[in-house]
Amino acid sequence: MSASTPMPDPSFALTLLFTAALTLGLLIKFWLSARQIRHVASHRDAVPAAFAQTISLTAHQKAADYTIAKARLGLLEMALGAAVLLGWTLLGGLSTLNQLLLAWLGQGMGQQLGLLGAFVVIGGLIDLPLSWHQTFVLEQRFGFNKMTLRLWLADLLKSSLIGALIGLPIAALILWMMGATGSLWWLWAWLFWMGFNLLLLVIYPTLIAPMFNKFVPLEDETLKARVTALMQRCGFHAKGLFVMDGSKRSAHANAYFTGFGAAKRVVFYDTLLSKLSAEEVDAVLAHELGHFKHKHIIKRIVSMFAMSLVGFALLGYLAQQSWFYTGLGVQPNLFAANDALALLLFMLAMPVFSFFIAPLFAQLSRKHEFEADAYAVGQTSAQDLSTALLKLYEDNASTLTPDPLYVRFYYSHPGASERLSRMHGIAPASV
Ligand SMILES: [Zn+2]
Repeated sequence: MSASTPMPDPSFALTLLFTAALTLGLLIKFWLSARQIRHVASHRDAVPAAFAQTISLTAHQKAADYTIAKARLGLLEMALGAAVLLGWTLLGGLSTLNQLLLAWLGQGMGQQLGLLGAFVVIGGLIDLPLSWHQTFVLEQRFGFNKMTLRLWLADLLKSSLIGALIGLPIAALILWMMGATGSLWWLWAWLFWMGFNLLLLVIYPTLIAPMFNKFVPLEDETLKARVTALMQRCGFHAKGLFVMDGSKRSAHANAYFTGFGAAKRVVFYDTLLSKLSAEEVDAVLAHELGHFKHKHIIKRIVSMFAMSLVGFALLGYLAQQSWFYTGLGVQPNLFAANDALALLLFMLAMPVFSFFIAPLFAQLSRKHEFEADAYAVGQTSAQDLSTALLKLYEDNASTLTPDPLYVRFYYSHPGASERLSRMHGIAPASV
């Protein structure tokens, strides 16, 4: 190599790239939110013509106000998130925490687990005020919150305990693999991670969800007969139909089809059953079954596994590069393992870059929603599905007039007008 063309310093290059991606990402996020707020506000005065018969002006305006309030809170979250991210990385937060714990605990597994644990606890504490605000100010203001402070605290305590009980052993195992299984550790860690996620699919609905909500078998015989008939018609067999006390926390309504193998079950929120007719519940369930018929769930799981393999391989490489640490504001340990640092830096830095491909996944998800709608229309009726969806959109105060570009970037579900137009086989009306 000649002296006149020096190698660019990879550490400095990473710092630049990271800063540029973070800044660009933030600018795009702020721009999109501003567009969404403007668009919704400018359509606040009138219900779109297609919904004039079914949605009242009051409901339309509530949806507009709720959407705008959420977007404003989102702006604050983004700004805080970026500041915290910079604090951990380039401003030296993670490096300092690591040094403190080294001085206190010495090197070894205890220190590494301590670092992961301290990071999660500090991050959780920073997020706490916003999470409280979201439930007790935002959701409360629009009449959605049903939680008491006591329940909120109990949830927090419970989920922290479960998180620690499950998370610490998993973290210890992955750290152990990083140190003990050689240069292909990332492959072993990925296999283990896959196995854990499959296990979670089975134990979440049967063991974890019941710690937070009550699940009682569906008792309404008419509805039960209808739903069973629908499932038979569609070639499904579920191990149970359950009603969940969603109203304990929120007025938002939902239904889902969960688990696989012996744990497969259909769960209706009590809030859903109280708002929809039996025909409409059928149509909503048929939509969920459509996701299974089109293998959306399995496709999502397979693509998640493929992406995590790429992620683990990348982490396997980056963890060996000193510029990966210094470029993100961390002094790697010279005499102790850097595995916990590598994991944390990777988790912090990845979303900054993956943000730019998020619209691809949102688009795929919207395509799946259209397919599930089409399936539901074939099995039940377009009329029932559309009245059900409109009730849900209204009850959740989802705006009928989102900014089209914001939808393209973020929405996992298409807007109501697009869905209804497709269902009834007409071209989408421009909103
Ligand atoms: Zn869906």
